[in-house]
Amino acid sequence: MDNCIFCRIINRELPSTIVYENDKVLAFKDINPVVAFHVLIVPKKHIASIKDINEDNGSILTDVHIAANRIAEENGISDKGYRLINNCGAGAGQTVFHLHYHMLSGDELGEKLL
Ligand code: AMP
Ligand code: ZN
Repeated sequence: MDNCIFCRIINRELPSTIVYENDKVLAFKDINPVVAFHVLIVPKKHIASIKDINEDNGSILTDVHIAANRIAEENGISDKGYRLINNCGAGAGQTVFHLHYHMLSGDELGEKLL
């Protein structure tokens, strides 16, 4: 989608610090990290929100979670632990309407949500 920030990052029209990429998934550092390790994992295909997942597109969630496992391994947080957060809808704090998971890890993680 032309006016979607994350589509523009995927299309390299906006800069980002990419930490992982394959043909279906991109992961990049959050511009406003709330903990030491704060990465966003997004499907390359534009899906506005997790509530738009259905039987036709749902396999992307497996791709996202396999990517998350790879990212955790590559960044040394697989054993330490991390939190995957999805905000669905404005009332839950979603501000960018391109499906994404926040991947958070760090000593200050505590009970932190977004
Ligand atoms: P949410 O509030 O769950 O929709 O999360 C959106 C996240 O996108 C926020 O944590 C923002 O800091 C992050 N964000 C917004 N613009 C960018 C950008 N250009 N590059 C990286 N992260 C961004
Ligand atoms: Zn998008």
